[in-house]
Amino acid sequence: ENSETLLEVNNIEVIYNHVILVLKGVSLSVPKGGITALLGGNGAGKTTTLKAISNLLASERGAVTKGSITYRGERVADLNPAALVKKGVIQVMEGRHCFEHLTVEENLLTGAYTRSDGAAAVKKDLEMVYDYFPRLRERRRSQAGYTSGGEQQMVAMGRALMSRPETILLDEPSMGLAPQLVEQIFEIVKAVNEGEGVTFLLAEQNTNVALRFAHYGYILESGRVVMDGPAAALRENPDVKEFYLGMS
Ligand code: ATP
Repeated sequence: ENSETLLEVNNIEVIYNHVILVLKGVSLSVPKGGITALLGGNGAGKTTTLKAISNLLASERGAVTKGSITYRGERVADLNPAALVKKGVIQVMEGRHCFEHLTVEENLLTGAYTRSDGAAAVKKDLEMVYDYFPRLRERRRSQAGYTSGGEQQMVAMGRALMSRPETILLDEPSMGLAPQLVEQIFEIVKAVNEGEGVTFLLAEQNTNVALRFAHYGYILESGRVVMDGPAAALRENPDVKEFYLGMS
């Protein structure tokens, strides 16, 4: 191991409504500077894993009932999302969630709300975001609710970047997007990872694209990790090919 581990999920169990066991002992680790993919079909538990990390389960009557989650060695189970953002971890939720009545630029600026380093720094990062997402620069005066699905995904990611995160938890960036746009979104993830050193943990059903851009992957099935490995090895694995890449 030659890279520092930022996030460590250790054998967690998650139960919804006191009875529905959804994660049955999930472990994973996220190295600094990497792109780690959490793969698996509908309902495998990807979103639940991300929400467990960012402490968003309570509002869904879910709870981590076993195991631990640490960030830089520190338990994060009791941190609310704002406190987690201060630690450098931010989640981009599935389904984008823009403020529809605000402009694209106003949406991006809301991402800087936890910062205290002043307007000039925020302005500089806005330019940084526009450099990664040129389309958002063009659309910056548009009301977010009237932009396309791909643009809203970009807004959600750009807003996350405005908090200057160390780690982004990205839930299903490909959802509902045309293949060409999916490719574009992943290219941007890669550029941000390489250009800003941002660490990514991304949940994705599109195994094919995720394994082309990620460094390491975990495959979830019914709340358990059934396989993990470097992305290149997973791409060559016969079971992954047959069941997830559709080219047996
Ligand atoms: P998707 O791609 O659909 O988001 P996923 O892999 O992210 O799939 P989860 O959303 O984590 O899967 O769901 C895992 C399981 O937990 C599913 O069986 C789902 O029905 C169940 N589940 C999710 N949220 C709740 C909830 N609030 N209450 C009860 N069960 C839930």
